[in-house]
Amino acid sequence: MKIDGKLTCDVAIVGSGIAALAAALKLADDKKVIILTKEKAPATNSAMAQGGIAAVTDQSDSFASHIEDTLVAGAGLCHYEAVRNFIEQAPERIKDLINWGVQFDADSTREGGHSFRRVLHHEDQTGAEMHSKLFHAVLAHPNIEVLENHFAIDLLVNKKIDPTLMGPTSIVGLYVLDKVADTVKVIEAKSTILATGGAGKVYLYTSNWSGATGDGIAMAYRAGARISNLEFMQFHPTCLFHKDARNFLISEAVRGEGGELINSQGEAFMKKYHRLGSLAPRDIVARGIDAEMKRTAEPCVYLDITQQPKAFLQSHFPNIYTRCLEYGIDMSKQPIPVVPAAHYLCGGVVTDVAGQTDLVGLYAIGETACTGLHGANRLASNSLLECLAMAHNCAVHLKTNWQAITEQTVLSVQPLPWEQPEKTDSDEMVVISHMWEEIRRLMWNYVGIVRSTKRLERAQKRLVNIKSEVKEYYSNMKVHSDILELRNIVIVAKLTVECALRRHESRGIHYSLDYPTSPLDMSRIKEMQGSDTII
Ligand SMILES: Cc1cc2nc3c(=O)[nH]c(=O)nc-3n(C[C@H](O)[C@H](O)[C@H](O)COP(=O)(O)OP(=O)(O)OC[C@H]3O[C@@H](n4cnc5c(N)ncnc54)[C@H](O)[C@@H]3O)c2cc1C
Repeated sequence: MKIDGKLTCDVAIVGSGIAALAAALKLADDKKVIILTKEKAPATNSAMAQGGIAAVTDQSDSFASHIEDTLVAGAGLCHYEAVRNFIEQAPERIKDLINWGVQFDADSTREGGHSFRRVLHHEDQTGAEMHSKLFHAVLAHPNIEVLENHFAIDLLVNKKIDPTLMGPTSIVGLYVLDKVADTVKVIEAKSTILATGGAGKVYLYTSNWSGATGDGIAMAYRAGARISNLEFMQFHPTCLFHKDARNFLISEAVRGEGGELINSQGEAFMKKYHRLGSLAPRDIVARGIDAEMKRTAEPCVYLDITQQPKAFLQSHFPNIYTRCLEYGIDMSKQPIPVVPAAHYLCGGVVTDVAGQTDLVGLYAIGETACTGLHGANRLASNSLLECLAMAHNCAVHLKTNWQAITEQTVLSVQPLPWEQPEKTDSDEMVVISHMWEEIRRLMWNYVGIVRSTKRLERAQKRLVNIKSEVKEYYSNMKVHSDILELRNIVIVAKLTVECALRRHESRGIHYSLDYPTSPLDMSRIKEMQGSDTII
């Protein structure tokens, strides 16, 4: 396959989630922006967010309290400056959203780990509301071009193109697969922003959309950027358990409004694991459910909110209510069957609060980045805030430092040709899907909610082999999104295991049987010191 076509822009943004759209809107007044996204624009985790966005907007609440709750959830690994930066600008970012047309319900809600009702929401479809309004604004902007079905393959690294170059390593654009035209294009960009979201798809069970394969993390790693804290994958405690439901989440807000976790005997069991019961932080709830499922040998537990009137449930959770009903579950009359699933990646590409990576011209924002906001565990509804705050900081940083950055990121030579076969044997596609399945099952079984060194080492051994098999397939196949995603998930899986093996303790969401420090002792959290795992 040959390179067919070249596009140029000031800023190339990979992704069409909230982080990407907000960054584009903040930059487009004086920069030419290309947004490229591997499927249709709404195919994102952003559009699936239900609960809402955390921000201090009530006088009885305070930044200090939001900061404190975030630090407690992060179990001693949060970077204080990032936490302060994002939380203190939250009210301004809410104003941005309202200016872009986003509507919030009048009452804010409370979620696990928060001391106040500070989660702003739009019914139980906050992400969809935010995404549709921001996307509408993006489409109306003359300086933003949106390329759907464009899959970013790899970053263009100046020193790979011209090994004689001295000075810093910089990113000058990307190779992109146009999935419709079935061609590879080059995008030359003076600056590149990875807003590629998370990596839930690395695990067998996930609440994430099907393209959450950690592509940005893998691309940045291949280009030479540091990656951090991948051991901290947050498992959402309550995904709907039903044979026909794929990745449907029962929002934390259901517990916020009085939903109680019970086992098959009808016993409310969470108080055994934490004084806040069903409203304990997510990691503790997920482990509590995992332990209860193992103890009772049941395939799921139940979330009971039948004490709330039907009208209340229909008005507060219209989406969840309707979806459950479609699966034959009337949440006003019966408890909802739920299981934990991989949900949010706290680690990612190492950046500062503006998304700057180690490579000149390369930024990572949103879930792809690791800023230190979440530490060892994310506080609910802080991630949409992080997307917006990073998009803002990134745009300010780029505009302020534009000249210095672009001096390093203008390509003076042609990128290397694309060399891959024109055809793929259809038998090979079967092997690809087997490898996908194997990685995801392996990660679920050996690198899941409860880990051990032995299980991690077993996963590591197998992943080393799978990675070299994938490498061989990749070089002999015509470029295709399935093999591209496989190539990325195997890297993210392998790095996750390496991070987990380096952490000789249980902390936050990372729980190892070999280091059984009680993760439930919240009184120690403020004294806990620690460091990030950096690869
Ligand atoms: C079910 C669910 C509910 C949630 N609820 C909440 C909530 O209530 N509050 C909260 O704060 N957070 C919530 N989260 C987390 C939050 O939604 C995400 O962290 C956030 O939306 C991530 O946004 P993003 O812009 O970083 O990435 P995403 O929204 O995931 O967007 C990633 C984009 O990158 C594109 N992309 C990826 N790889 C490539 C590639 N190689 N080439 C081209 N394009 C690519 C994708 O197509 C997509 O457009 C929830 C998550 C889920 C899954």
